[in-house]
Amino acid sequence: MEWVAPVGVKLESEGTRKNSTLICAPLMADSVDQMVKYMEKAKLSGADLVEVRLDSLKSFYPGQDIQTLIKRCPLPTLFNYRPKWEGGLYDGDENSRLNVLQLAMELGADYIDVELQVADQFNSSMLNKKPAKCKFIVSSHNYQSTPSLEELGNLVARIQAAGADIVKIATTAVDVTDVARVFQIIVHCQVRGVPTIGLVMGERGLMSRILCPKFGGYLTFGSLESGKVSAPGQPTIDDLVNLYNFRQIGPDTKVFGVIGKPVSHSKSPALYNEAFKRVGFNGVYLHFLVDSVANFLQTYSSVDFVGFSIGIPHKEAAVMCCNEVDPVAKSIGAVNCIIRNSSDRKFFGYNTDYVGAITAIENALRGLNHTSGSLPSPLADKLFVVTGAGGAGKALAYGAKQKGARVVIANRTYDRAKELADTVGGDALSLADLDGFHPEDGMILANTTSIGMQPKIDETPINKEALTPYTLVFDAVYTPKITRLLREAEESGSKIVSGTEMFVGQAYEQFERFTGLPAPKELFRKIMARY
Ligand code: NAP
Repeated sequence: MEWVAPVGVKLESEGTRKNSTLICAPLMADSVDQMVKYMEKAKLSGADLVEVRLDSLKSFYPGQDIQTLIKRCPLPTLFNYRPKWEGGLYDGDENSRLNVLQLAMELGADYIDVELQVADQFNSSMLNKKPAKCKFIVSSHNYQSTPSLEELGNLVARIQAAGADIVKIATTAVDVTDVARVFQIIVHCQVRGVPTIGLVMGERGLMSRILCPKFGGYLTFGSLESGKVSAPGQPTIDDLVNLYNFRQIGPDTKVFGVIGKPVSHSKSPALYNEAFKRVGFNGVYLHFLVDSVANFLQTYSSVDFVGFSIGIPHKEAAVMCCNEVDPVAKSIGAVNCIIRNSSDRKFFGYNTDYVGAITAIENALRGLNHTSGSLPSPLADKLFVVTGAGGAGKALAYGAKQKGARVVIANRTYDRAKELADTVGGDALSLADLDGFHPEDGMILANTTSIGMQPKIDETPINKEALTPYTLVFDAVYTPKITRLLREAEESGSKIVSGTEMFVGQAYEQFERFTGLPAPKELFRKIMARY
């Protein structure tokens, strides 16, 4: 079967996009009028077609309503009348449901979607009356897991045998590595000329929805608004087009991303994707919700998966996943950036975390003291209190020590504070004792716990009353930009430094390692100023 770009889709040769993978807006509405409004919105958002979820309509007069929907839709239409037994809302008679889909076909739908279980029944009732224009999608949904490669292969064969023009498989990601099997199936189908929609639901499956053009997927779904999804894990059309540069993804696009758990709060995709686009670098940067860094790296072993930023809580475990670790990252005991060497596929780990934070703290102190120059560091001999002993805590403690500060680690788990204090040559406290810790004035506080991070923005690692002895307070948390800790520190008269400074500083270095190009520093600052 030949796979041609549908009418209206401009390919790279025409200068607008690098792939023919379609963006479909799934539309769920109570009324036909509302559905038509959503259709117009979908067109404005940049969708290529709409999926009309007939099962969402509260009252529905098939003959009249389908005609109206097709006539008034500014985009090609895909009709879907999903029954409850396949995750939809329709709870009525099966024959009536299939008759409605047949009617949609006869009235001019561009696509209809029929579940594999009833595809044979539907086909035999059509008696070869399918209009040539209409494409028949046969779909299978698994809301629990993603089957083995062999089972997925068998599923595709059954869907094809049921007469599908387009195969659709939607599974659920229990682990981010599940997506790899669906990519393999899409590639296999593409080689055999079988148009295939392969999507993996859930946050762990997000990359299936963004990278499908790289592997030759026929279509992806993008919602009109954040949170208004027809299946778990769907991005918005706006994110697909503007955040992930979906139209520019091709088979040779290099893949990057932030590996974390949680990870959806990270602004790194916004930063890197816009910068990639600006400098003309053929790469895409994603959020990867990962449980095991080792399993992730082992599974996505293609040379096209090039570089990863490492987020919470994986920075320490990531050290063990690298074939080689930069001496600074080794001393810190945490890696925040992993690059795959394209020739031998080995992983090299770095730590770029502390440079941005320490530089920003030094600059702020110089501003307070009205001094300039780089030597000696204004951190020399200062009492530098780090809350947290995870990846970021290790980096800040290491950086402060390097600059000659006296370092104290305060952590929820005292043993981890002690271990880090012993490593860098400092003292340890339990976080619970921090409020009563006041050995001298003019101290620096650097929070590297995730306390205060979205969504728990009302939390803080230290009482406001205990902030008075601190001249400067830094917070590694950058979502929100001004945390409760920073707000209260400023109210208490301390100089504050936001985690955005650290974020931008570590990103400069990572960008240069990822692309081999100088980081567009002004652009980075402009992008982060939006948040
Ligand atoms: P991590 O390795 O998981 O360490 C987390 C630290 O926070 C641990 O010390 C942990 O204490 C402590 N912690 C977590 N929840 C806590 C709670 N409810 N109460 C008290 N302590 C708690 O994470 P990480 O990679 O170091 O990142 C930590 C934070 O820094 C995150 O918010 C991250 O987004 C931010 N960060 C920002 C940047 C940037 O560029 N601005 C860079 C790196 C990290 P235990 O040891 O007791 O578990």
